[in-house]
Amino acid sequence: MDLRSDLPFWTVKNGLLRTYPPLKNGIGTGALIVGGGITGALMAHRLVSAGVDCVVLDRRDIGHGSTSASTGLLQYEIDTPLHELEQTRGRDHARRAYQLGVEAIEELSDLAAGTCGFARRPSLLLARSPRAVPKLRREFDSRCAAGLAVEWVTRNELTRHYGIPREAAIRSAVAAECDPYRLTHQLLDFCVSRGGCRVFDRTGVLGYELSRTGIRAATARGVSVRARAVFFATGYETKPILPGGLVKLSSTYALVTEPVPDLDWWRGRSLLWETGKAYLYSRTTSDRRILVGGEDDDTLDPARRDARVPRKAKRLMERFRTVFPRARIEPAFEWAGTFGATRDGLAYIGKYEPFPRGYFALGFGGNGITFSTTAARILTNLFLGKKDPDAEIYRFAR
Ligand SMILES: Cc1cc2nc3c(=O)[nH]c(=O)nc-3n(C[C@H](O)[C@H](O)[C@H](O)COP(=O)(O)OP(=O)(O)OC[C@H]3O[C@@H](n4cnc5c(N)ncnc54)[C@H](O)[C@@H]3O)c2cc1C
Repeated sequence: MDLRSDLPFWTVKNGLLRTYPPLKNGIGTGALIVGGGITGALMAHRLVSAGVDCVVLDRRDIGHGSTSASTGLLQYEIDTPLHELEQTRGRDHARRAYQLGVEAIEELSDLAAGTCGFARRPSLLLARSPRAVPKLRREFDSRCAAGLAVEWVTRNELTRHYGIPREAAIRSAVAAECDPYRLTHQLLDFCVSRGGCRVFDRTGVLGYELSRTGIRAATARGVSVRARAVFFATGYETKPILPGGLVKLSSTYALVTEPVPDLDWWRGRSLLWETGKAYLYSRTTSDRRILVGGEDDDTLDPARRDARVPRKAKRLMERFRTVFPRARIEPAFEWAGTFGATRDGLAYIGKYEPFPRGYFALGFGGNGITFSTTAARILTNLFLGKKDPDAEIYRFAR
C-alpha cells in the first residue's frame, strides 16, 4: 500500500535519523513487533520496560509509514463526539475512552517532554457555522458531566481574545503536539540502548505460522523470526487480514507553512479543530510554522490522491484564512496520506481469533497516537497474563 505522498514535512526536516540493519539471519525473541512506526515504538517501549525481549521489523525505514505524514496533534477528543459515543457504546465505555485519551497525553508528556517538539497546548474545538452550535453545546455538556477540563468560549471571547471569527468553541485544557517521527526514533533508540530490543528495517514479513511454542514469521529476505507472540503495529496495511467493514480507508491532506516571524497573535498556540465531517485542523510547530490538515476524501488511488495535493493545499489555505483572516502565511510543503476510520471512532486493540498468538495495536482514527499509547499498555498487560479492564472497550468483537 502507498501510505503517503513524497516529502511529508518530518522526513524533510529530520532526514534519516537512524538506520537499522535488515535482518539477514534467523533469530528468536519473546515478542515480535511488526511495524516500526509510532505504534511499534510505543509497543517496544512498554514491553522492554516490562522486561520482555523484543524484535521490531519494518519493511520500510523506521517511521516512514503513516507516522511521517502525521501532523502530530495529541488530543483526547476522538472523531466521534462524546455525546454520540455514549449512545453507541454506553456511557461508561464512552467516558472511559475519553479519559484514556487524557491519560495517554499525560504518559506521552512523561516520555517526550522537552524533546521531539513536544509541547502541551490547550485545544479549541470550533463551531464551523452557527448551525453547529447546538450540537457543540450538547458535546460541552457531556464533557462537563464526564469531568473533563473544558470551558465554553463565546463568539465575543473568540473574536476578542483569539482573533477567530466563529460562533463558539469548546476549550480543552489537556492536549499536546509533537513530531511523531522524531518521537518514534527516540523511543526505539531508548529501547535499543537499554538492551532487550533489536530493530531491523527494510525487512518485510510475508506470513505467520503457529509453532509448538509460539509463532514463526517468514520474511521477504528468506529468514524467519521465532517468537512467543506477534504484535501487529502494521497501521493501515493491516486491513487485508481484517474482517471487511472494520476500517474504512480514505485520503487526507496536510501542509506546513514557512516559519512565521512571530506567533503572538495565536493565543496559547492552541490546537485548532473544527466540527463537521470535512473538518479542518491546525497547530503550530516548534520552529514557528503552521501545520494545517483536513480536506479528506474517498480517493484511494495513490496517483489520483497525489495529483490532488496542490488543489487540496490551496483549499486548506483558504479555509485556514477563514479562521485567521489576517494571518500572513506562505505554504512550504504539502502532502497526502492514507487515513482509516472505524464505525464508532475507537481503535481496535486486542486479540483477534484467526491469529491465536497475535496482539493487535490498530490506532485507527484521527487520534491514532493517543490510541497507540493506550494499546501499548493494554497489550503488554494481556501478554503478561494480567487482566486489563480497558481491553473491553477496544476489543474486536464489540
Ligand atoms: C496526514 C495525516 C495526518 C495525521 N494526523 C494525526 C494527528 O494529528 N494525530 C494523530 O494522533 N494521528 C494522526 N494521523 C494518524 C497517525 O498518523 C497514525 O495513527 C499513526 O501514525 C499510525 O502509526 P502506526 O505506527 O500505527 O502506523 P505506521 O506509521 O504506518 O507504521 C506501520 C509500519 O508497519 C510497517 N509494516 C506494515 N506491514 C508490514 C509487514 N508485513 N512487514 C513489515 N513491516 C510492515 C510499515 O512499513 C509501517 O512503517 C494522521 C495521519 C495522516 C496520514
